[in-house]
Amino acid sequence: MRTLFCHSFSLLLLLILPGIKPLAQTLNTPQSFHNLAPHSAFIEDPNNSLNINQVLSTETLARFQKFNQDIPFFGLTRSIFWIHIPLSSMNLPPLLSGNNNWILELGPPKHVQGLDRGGIEMFLVDANGAILSSAQMGSYANTAELKTIRGGFAYRLSGENLHDVFLRVESARELRIPLTLWQENSFYDKSSTADIGLGLEYGILLAMILYNLFLLISIKERSLLFYILVASSQLLFLFLDSKHARLLIPDNNVLFWIINILERDIYLLMGIAYLQFQRVLLDVRQHNQLMDNLLKALIIICTGSLVMSMFTSEKPVQFIYLILIPVSLILILITNVDAIRKGVDTAKVHLAATLAFLSGAGIQLSYQVWQIFPETWLTSQAFHFGMLSQSLMLAFGLAYRYNKLKLEIENAQQLAINNLQHAEKIKDNLLSNVSHELRTPVHSINSLSHITREKLNNTSVPTQEIYENLNLIDNSARRLLKVIDDLLDLASIKNQQITLHLQALNLYLLTEDVLKTAKPLIGNKPIKLLNNIKDETCTVIADEKRLKQILLNLISNAIKFTPKGEINISVEPKDEAHLRLAVTDTGIGISPDEQNQIFNAFEKGNTPVDIQAEGIGLGLAISQRLVELHGSKLDLCKNPGRGTKFSFDLPLTGSEELIKNQGSESGSKRLLKRSDYSPSPLPVSHLKSEKASILIVDDEAINRMVISQQLSGHNVIQASGGAEALSIINKQKPDLVLLDLMMPGMSGYDVCKEIRRTYNQVQLPIIILTARNHLEDLNKGLELGANDYISKPYHHEELIARINNQLKLLPIINQFSGNRTLLK
Ligand code: ADP
Repeated sequence: MRTLFCHSFSLLLLLILPGIKPLAQTLNTPQSFHNLAPHSAFIEDPNNSLNINQVLSTETLARFQKFNQDIPFFGLTRSIFWIHIPLSSMNLPPLLSGNNNWILELGPPKHVQGLDRGGIEMFLVDANGAILSSAQMGSYANTAELKTIRGGFAYRLSGENLHDVFLRVESARELRIPLTLWQENSFYDKSSTADIGLGLEYGILLAMILYNLFLLISIKERSLLFYILVASSQLLFLFLDSKHARLLIPDNNVLFWIINILERDIYLLMGIAYLQFQRVLLDVRQHNQLMDNLLKALIIICTGSLVMSMFTSEKPVQFIYLILIPVSLILILITNVDAIRKGVDTAKVHLAATLAFLSGAGIQLSYQVWQIFPETWLTSQAFHFGMLSQSLMLAFGLAYRYNKLKLEIENAQQLAINNLQHAEKIKDNLLSNVSHELRTPVHSINSLSHITREKLNNTSVPTQEIYENLNLIDNSARRLLKVIDDLLDLASIKNQQITLHLQALNLYLLTEDVLKTAKPLIGNKPIKLLNNIKDETCTVIADEKRLKQILLNLISNAIKFTPKGEINISVEPKDEAHLRLAVTDTGIGISPDEQNQIFNAFEKGNTPVDIQAEGIGLGLAISQRLVELHGSKLDLCKNPGRGTKFSFDLPLTGSEELIKNQGSESGSKRLLKRSDYSPSPLPVSHLKSEKASILIVDDEAINRMVISQQLSGHNVIQASGGAEALSIINKQKPDLVLLDLMMPGMSGYDVCKEIRRTYNQVQLPIIILTARNHLEDLNKGLELGANDYISKPYHHEELIARINNQLKLLPIINQFSGNRTLLK
């Protein structure tokens, strides 16, 4: 990029340098033009007090002094200057060819509308000092004034009789007035060369505008729009500066009013377009908010000044040129450098373009104002060259940016495709994992029950073998249930339906419980399960069921992925209100590239073939969410040495408020839990109740059969629907009803309502069995008089415990009703 800039700059110098040669013009050789300055004289009129008649007086004429410059230059001045060109007394060399007309080319300065000063007034004076004609340059009121697209003004003089010329010159900017006399033919020749140059400039700019316009229509990229504005403002500048606007546009007051304003404010317009383009091209807002605000403020000020300048006179306009344009340039350069430092590639091209423009402007200005460079075709066109190279470089910058954007889009698309492929892979894995996880235990249950039946037929098979088979069937069913439980949990988590029931829990005892459950998973592996919680009284606040679920997930994973060694459950203090619970194993560990993925749902790591890694990749995803509900985060220790270490924080008792705030995110969807309204079930062993009659109401025969077998210690009566149940109760009141909610015909609610017409909750307890656990459903059941509910799937022990819980009161009730009979 730097070389690009160097090249553009040296190219510009290369174009200019050969043109630097002194303007040696003399009047005694035949040639196409003469510089009149060395032969002319001037006087200064600081107070604008002279008119042409006073100038023509002998004493004023005597005060005229010679120029000692090739191009008369008076700098920034408010004075009026009178210039005398003694054409009548000059000995002009013979004409080169063609007619004998001369063209006097003057200026600028032109008169700028809205500025108080500016313009050239010309007087032709004969040898006796009589004024022959006068003309205000630029008005074209005098037929001798030619319409020219070159910088200054042109006036045709008849070759036979050349008169003296007096000029009254004033300028709103710096006063610089080249004076040239051309042979008419040469003037036109030179003009047509300039026309070709201008035509080329127009063509290039127009091509850029059109090309980018088409691109804008097809890709709708904002920076293209602003580039078009920049190039259009440059085109407009050419149109105005060449005077094409004035010469081509028909005489019309409104149009001329617009041209006047545009001629004056075109630089400002170019500045605004450039500032805005730069903001967008360099994405200034993205990497420097302050700079972007400054640019925006400047754009607003410039636009405001532009509007204001339409209705005011000189001062504000001068302010705009002297303050706003330099400030804009400085800001443009600073933004550019800043963007380069921040690594914005297009900024380098933009800087090169800006510098090319500034070099062009600088060269032209330095030859016009300070005459560092002589006037040549190249130096006089330096501004145009600069502008054109700027425009080309910016287009290059845009193309670069466009390519980069395209590349970014392609990358994003590729990423999206990769993600899709990954999602597709996860889906495939999920399907194969889930089907495998479902198929394996179902197959085992199927074959084992088949084998067991065979064995039962064969009386010689020891009952021990049958018992072992039943155990295996039980394990397979549990495994199935785990998959289903996990899927249901994931759905609840996704729907934010999990609510914690927080209570103070003894962490040591809870861990012991979990370890007891996990122990059978070890099988024959040489693994030690260690409860390293030293403080046996340590109490934390958590949801018992969910904390056990998290721990069991972590411990069963640890068992799965540890061939031998130990699994350690330990705590360490975190802060005053929390402790950190860790599950550490000495297993195969987790590779770094899998460490981030394993927490995603359905993601499993690559495990060695000898590790039996059953599961569908939901354990950690669910545990993570449950830990988050407890106000912490499940962390995988990245560098545990050997094996794996998962840890998370738990609040200690005394910090209830804290967890209440953290864990209440799904409070509005809070579900009713049995522990909300009934005491925890008593351990099964503690409940030795008497034989009771229990009515099971369920439309599914298999459910009735399973429950009957689970309640084999009681008298079980079955009803396949609500009506049947009510008729049974009418004939012979059972001690307890187990009622399914969802039944065809009469629902569980209706049955409950009917029963409560005759018996209250003490006389006939009802336990609802349901697969639905929405708050409204359960509330409704309890409102209608149910005593308790159990949601499916449930554990055999839980069912017994809950039934026994209700039946505890039976002997007292029986005794009470016996006493009443006695009393009667
Ligand atoms: P799953 O329920 O199928 O076990 P998880 O989400 O619990 O799924 O675990 C995802 C993956 O994380 C496992 O497949 C395994 O690769 C890795 N992983 C989890 N725990 C451990 C551990 N203690 N040691 C090694 N790898 C583990």
